[in-house]
Amino acid sequence: MPETIANDVVVTIEYTLKNRTGEVLDTSVGDEPLTYLQGHDNIVPGLENALAGKKAGDVVTIAVPPEEGYGLRDPSGTRQIERDAFPEGANLQPGLQFSAELEDEEVVPLWVVAVDDEFVHVDLNHPLAGETLHFEVTVLELRAALPNELAHGHPHGRDGQNHHHH
Ligand code: ZN
Repeated sequence: MPETIANDVVVTIEYTLKNRTGEVLDTSVGDEPLTYLQGHDNIVPGLENALAGKKAGDVVTIAVPPEEGYGLRDPSGTRQIERDAFPEGANLQPGLQFSAELEDEEVVPLWVVAVDDEFVHVDLNHPLAGETLHFEVTVLELRAALPNELAHGHPHGRDGQNHHHH
């Protein structure tokens, strides 16, 4: 078993993410911990870098700048899509994420920011783009990745036994 976090190690962490005003944006506390594969872009680069070399039991507190988080906010990232382009009964609400093919045929994630009678207003920026991310992380467990996890670039659950097809 690996003793410190390095590339290709499966890591289970408990985390809390706050914004700069201290508001909790996301947390695993009271829920399932997060299991990820180090070195495979499963988590934002700034957090991954901060966790490299840590051991089980370590607590890491880090402020990740936007450049190492969800990127800077691109002001040209907003679009209006006609409501008719969405399926009947689609639950169009601010915060909804979906994927769409753009003019250049690149498939990108989009987030709904507002809905009116005529248009769905979407943003190509991640909702946390431009934000400094304040993480507090407790490292719970490390293990070696299984060959199929390395091939997929992500872990199959905390123990590697969560099989799936994709
Ligand atoms: Zn997989």
